[in-house]
Amino acid sequence: MQQKPLLTLIAAALLCAGAHAATPGNDPAALNQIREAALRSDWAFERTADMTDLIGPRLSGSAGYAAAVTQVAEAMRKLGAKVTLQPVKVPHWVRGAETAALVEYKGRPAGVSQKVVLTALGGSGATPAGGLTAQVIVVRNFDELKARAAEVKGRIVLFNVPFDQGLAAGGQAGQAYGQVVRYRGGGTRMAAEMGAVAALVSSAGGANYRLPHTGSSGLQDGARIPAAAVTVEDAQLMARLAARGPVSMHLVLTPQTLPDADSFNVIADYPGTDKADEIVIVSGHLDSWDLGTGANDDATGVASAMAVVETLKRLDFRPRRTIRVIAWANEENGGRGAAAYLQGYKDSVHHHFAAIESDAGSGRPFGMRSSAPQSANKLFAPLQAALEPIGAAALQRADALSTGDLGGLEQAGVPSFTPLIDTSDYFHYHHTAADTLDKVDPQNLRKHVALMTSLTWFLANVEQPIGRWSGPVKQ
Ligand SMILES: [Zn+2]
Repeated sequence: MQQKPLLTLIAAALLCAGAHAATPGNDPAALNQIREAALRSDWAFERTADMTDLIGPRLSGSAGYAAAVTQVAEAMRKLGAKVTLQPVKVPHWVRGAETAALVEYKGRPAGVSQKVVLTALGGSGATPAGGLTAQVIVVRNFDELKARAAEVKGRIVLFNVPFDQGLAAGGQAGQAYGQVVRYRGGGTRMAAEMGAVAALVSSAGGANYRLPHTGSSGLQDGARIPAAAVTVEDAQLMARLAARGPVSMHLVLTPQTLPDADSFNVIADYPGTDKADEIVIVSGHLDSWDLGTGANDDATGVASAMAVVETLKRLDFRPRRTIRVIAWANEENGGRGAAAYLQGYKDSVHHHFAAIESDAGSGRPFGMRSSAPQSANKLFAPLQAALEPIGAAALQRADALSTGDLGGLEQAGVPSFTPLIDTSDYFHYHHTAADTLDKVDPQNLRKHVALMTSLTWFLANVEQPIGRWSGPVKQ
């Protein structure tokens, strides 16, 4: 007889929990629940599949990007998030024909030409429709080009700069990428300024499958020469032939730079409770290059940011601070999405508690990087303990993360966070036609969501201030 009221009470309590979401804060049990809930779900993989299989490439200004805005907004509304589409004017560059052949070189048998595999770089200018033919100058760095300044006018410049695969295998893939990619920006611009008729760069990629890797050139209106990335194999071929004697290329590149297009950042808020006016951003970029389907760059980043809300909704957990999911526009060829956000929210930057961006693929995650003050590191111990079981407990501090979309917020004082990910094979497919869903490992993506959700939740509930970003540590 005594039991009946007790059971009724328990039932009432359970009902209550359903009606009023729990706010367990950074309780270790809650952090463990979040991790386990993320590991049980393929929701992020399904969103990645929708974005890549149903839409495909999402370059700024394209119908694919517009469809992705709708898709993400609908999925977030379905979760009950408050969705805002923030208008952004974006560059609208469209790929055209792209072919090349080596038509003259010392030792060339009559009737023979060698095909060169290449792809136009974003912002590239166009050759005449029938192409152009010019001699190729092969250099290995900026100094060599300067030393050969007298030869550049009227010629095609090739920067043959190898991607350091050893560095990438040793866990420094970003650094290996940086060493090459500065020629994609600075090299193409320098070649244009020196009077070259076209600029070529060796692909910034970590594996040689004779795949060209696209990306932004450094070219601007008024100085848009044709610019392309050639495969590493073809760059090396040209270097070998140039060592025998003069090499000439016939090059056809017909991309177009159209007027800027109307576009959007997708912003989805999962409201906080007692600190609702403070914001924790969790984000990825929604645009992608046009050759592949942008699976690892950056559908998985967007999908795992979206999955933060899905996981918390499933647990019925409510954060103290507002969690703001952002799918950024135009990270790849302009950064206009991040600039529009900074402009639009400049009066409330101080309400931004922290910001997370995932933009290094979906390799195995092993921890986090942070640009919060060093003094905050010790606060993260409970989070690290919760991530230990999936091997993602590392916490690395850097003076500035300067991620693609958070750099401006960081400079304005908002500490940045980003997952630490095994990127040893990320650059094999990066910006190529092969960045497709089959490269995404579902279990790694579940861990990625576990990390992103745990980190976002932790930041949205942490009691002590983690401090503002204040630049390099003063010695
Ligand atoms: Zn990216």
